[in-house]
Amino acid sequence: MSISLDVLRALPKAEIHVHLEGTFEPAVLERWARQAGVALPRPRERLLDFTGLADFLEFLDWACGLASTADRAAELARSFCERLARDGTGYADLIINPTHWSAWHGRLRALFDALEAGFREAEQDGLPGVGLCVSLLRTQTPDEAAELVDNLIAWRHPRVVALSVDGNEATAGRTGPRFADAFRRAAGAGLRRTVHAGESSGPDGVWDAVDLLGADRVDHGVRAIEDAALVDTLVRRGIALGICPSSNLALKVYPSLAAHPIDALRRAGVRVSINTDDPSLLGTSLPREYGLCAEHFDWDGEVVRSLARNSIEASFANPEAKDGMLRALVAWRAGSSPRPSVA
Ligand SMILES: [Zn+2]
Repeated sequence: MSISLDVLRALPKAEIHVHLEGTFEPAVLERWARQAGVALPRPRERLLDFTGLADFLEFLDWACGLASTADRAAELARSFCERLARDGTGYADLIINPTHWSAWHGRLRALFDALEAGFREAEQDGLPGVGLCVSLLRTQTPDEAAELVDNLIAWRHPRVVALSVDGNEATAGRTGPRFADAFRRAAGAGLRRTVHAGESSGPDGVWDAVDLLGADRVDHGVRAIEDAALVDTLVRRGIALGICPSSNLALKVYPSLAAHPIDALRRAGVRVSINTDDPSLLGTSLPREYGLCAEHFDWDGEVVRSLARNSIEASFANPEAKDGMLRALVAWRAGSSPRPSVA
């Protein structure tokens, strides 16, 4: 059914699969580049028109390189909280991959503290809360993974809630065994675990995430649909999937929403959630992602409410924050809208 963007903004929900590196706004990057005396790689209006993966990764390094001061990192953190408020998102687990932040190499704790200043200021102004999921890159070595986990355990930074791993499994190959020890130690230290799998990898990657890395959640995980035993395992263990429909279409995991398995996974009883992945780079928002799916799969308000409930319950928010969002969710009404939900 068609549910208006305003109604979907009002839907109490969490976001559990979104990357800080995917939230750079062209206007902010243009200002930072001007201040730094650095040229834009191409005109602002075409800044996010990527020609391919290599171009995209080059852009990421360039953008993260501009966020080189504590003030800019804090500004980025605060802007993210403002984005959550605009989208009506009550809380987000935000993935940050330190390998992209070259200006902060060797100073990761200082980067966390700079982001913390932005998050704290935002919270004091009544904006939504954020937990950081610190991500390994698939191509890193076991020693690099061990060093990151050593630091996370030693620092016990109050903003860090989870260890994550992302990057392209199609090029890195099978990496579950390589990171099993790092994830086991993170779990022992009380960190949660979220794992990219079942996007650039097939069901095997999701099995590794679940069996070798002890994943509380799987980011994407959509290709689990190809293995009935895996779907059963996800249902039985209550492992949620952080699904990003527009991202999957942009990266050609599926040719269209009609071919996307989110509704089949939901019907099979998997705890699916809707997310943006890289909202600025993909030109999307969380209400828009809900709207696209609700319209295409003809979901009514109760289906939408159940997915929002999954997002809140599967988030790493503290119990009080979850309770508040869940209470508000009960009162949400889908209603009906006279105008089209998404352009
Ligand atoms: Zn992702």
